[in-house]
Amino acid sequence: MTGFVSLVGAGPGDPGLLTLRGLRALQEADVIVADRLGARAVLDGLAAEGVTLDAEIVDVGKTPGHHAVPQDAINELLVTLAQDGKRVVRLKGGDPYVFGRGAEELEHCRAHGVDAEIVPGVTSAIAVPAIAGIPLTHRGIATSFTVVTGHDQIGEIGGGRDHTVVLLMGVGTLAHSAMVLARGERGADCPVAVVEDGFGDGQRVTIGTLASIAHQAARRKVRSPAVVVVGDVVALSVYAPEELRASVPASS
Ligand code: SAH
Repeated sequence: MTGFVSLVGAGPGDPGLLTLRGLRALQEADVIVADRLGARAVLDGLAAEGVTLDAEIVDVGKTPGHHAVPQDAINELLVTLAQDGKRVVRLKGGDPYVFGRGAEELEHCRAHGVDAEIVPGVTSAIAVPAIAGIPLTHRGIATSFTVVTGHDQIGEIGGGRDHTVVLLMGVGTLAHSAMVLARGERGADCPVAVVEDGFGDGQRVTIGTLASIAHQAARRKVRSPAVVVVGDVVALSVYAPEELRASVPASS
């Protein structure tokens, strides 16, 4: 009998932000194929809370000094395990469909006759700013948001400071992204926050402006994973300096 693949979003790394449906899938799994970012932290967190999982865990994420398993090999692995009759959970950081290649994995399984489902997760794009006290929209301050990677064409993002920009995988390209965004309607003094290792032991928030953030990040040796937030909503953060906080109404 052919098994089944469940693509589960692990959330940003705190087991409390895994969905109940995701937890059930983990408890019923024979094998868990886990990413490092988010997924590993959730498995460790569940174990620390006394939740035992019977499944074998296969780590396919990048660890320092080791390369990640290539995407093709992951796709193959999911199909092979399911064809062996295993119930497989593919545990991915955040939400599988937000810069997570979830649709590719689902498609690959189905194309090979393997039944597969998606269990959405809490994306870091929203949850990591939230843990720093930054809402992506706020009445009177921001009415929309865009999530992009540091590699995308950020020059094409329109709007001003009331249109929040969230950058994932944006640490390496931060200086360039900030420069490009500063040239647009947002301007050089638009607030920016960088939230490193959200929900993890290394959680740290750096706040500046589009003009200053690259320098601040370099000085503080900001590292990946981090979520970058650009827009006036940054002023609502509990970590924002007093003058910045005073510049926006808390609610309107
Ligand atoms: N599918 C994932 C995103 C994958 S891209 C999701 O929905 O969250 C990986 C990027 O996500 C990282 O480079 C970083 O920008 C962000 N990220 C994921 N978890 C994070 C965390 N705990 N803290 C800070 N950034 C995180």
